[in-house]
Amino acid sequence: MSEQPVRTGLPVRDDLVGRTPYGAPQLPDAIQLNVNENPFPPSAALVADLQRAVGEIAGTLHRYPDREAAALRADLASYLSRRTGVRLTMEQVWAANGSNEVLQQVCQAFGGPGRVALGFEPSYSMHPLLAAGTNTGWRVAPRASDFTLSVETAVAAVELHRPAVTFLTTPNNPTGTVTELDVVEAVCATSAGVVVVDEAYAEFCSGPSAVTLLDRHPMLLVSRTMSKAFAGAGLRLGYLAASPEVVDALRLVRLPYHLSTLTQAAARIALAYEDELLGSVEAVKEQRNRMVAGVRRLGLTVLPTEANFLLFGPFASPELVWQQLLDHGVLVRDVSSGPGLAGWLRVNAGTPAETTAFLTALEAVASA
Ligand SMILES: *Cc1c(COP(=O)(O)O)cnc(C)c1O
Repeated sequence: MSEQPVRTGLPVRDDLVGRTPYGAPQLPDAIQLNVNENPFPPSAALVADLQRAVGEIAGTLHRYPDREAAALRADLASYLSRRTGVRLTMEQVWAANGSNEVLQQVCQAFGGPGRVALGFEPSYSMHPLLAAGTNTGWRVAPRASDFTLSVETAVAAVELHRPAVTFLTTPNNPTGTVTELDVVEAVCATSAGVVVVDEAYAEFCSGPSAVTLLDRHPMLLVSRTMSKAFAGAGLRLGYLAASPEVVDALRLVRLPYHLSTLTQAAARIALAYEDELLGSVEAVKEQRNRMVAGVRRLGLTVLPTEANFLLFGPFASPELVWQQLLDHGVLVRDVSSGPGLAGWLRVNAGTPAETTAFLTALEAVASA
């Protein structure tokens, strides 16, 4: 596995010594079902539009990009408005190179030395890493044994830790669990700091978005990404919706011209293909449902999921099952070393053929 601690002996910050970088394996020869990508590539029409746009932009690359990414943020605002029914303007939307960069900027602007961020684990492993990288303390409250999060648990943790930044992930990665909006509202009502609802998988989820709460909660931030449902993991485009004041504060920490001209143009083209790209969401859910049914048929447990992936197990030796699946050419995610995740593996929906390959491999491994 590629997750190895950074070599010591260098004068890196004391608080980074011994830490492990994010490192999901990248094995192009395997069927890659380990990082929750959309398995369906962009259409020929989208590719042609993108090629044309890149051709036009190429001759302007001696100039810096629009520092405020105004046209892209306006497009993102109208996309979110269409999806959620909440009228948003570009002043309420911020964009960066993946939602990881957005969340890092949130930690830079609202966290930092002497402040803490709070998460409800198991959850997205990048949240504590982003806190660490910005020298923000990290506090954790555990989810229930079925990985749900109650109002009582969430509110008690906020009262105990007084976080400057609280992360709520829904649907949660890696469990697929949905957190109801009453939990988000209760946390917003209790917290003096900002509350980030990470909605990376929102388009796969049937429930309402936390965007619908923005007008009532000025410290609420809702982050999204084009990496998953929008089939744009290689694009590196994440965004958030929040109050204009919060968005303004993020401009203090962003690097000048952080979004390249190429990224801004490509993201706008992808957004213009919204119907087509999001059309794959139903196909992805269909394959996920096939996986859920197939894994359960083998006598294993699958957690209820509203995302494009599922958590399955539990296994006595998840690392062995992970390796055996890889020996069959299928790469899944071994999340079992994460907090509260002993025994569990995660897999995301593939194309119909990839999904079949996964189920065939799992059946062979489980019956061996
Ligand atoms: C995949 C994922 C992201 C997306 O990261 P990008 O930087 O936008 O690719 C954010 N949050 C969660 C919970 C995720 O699983």
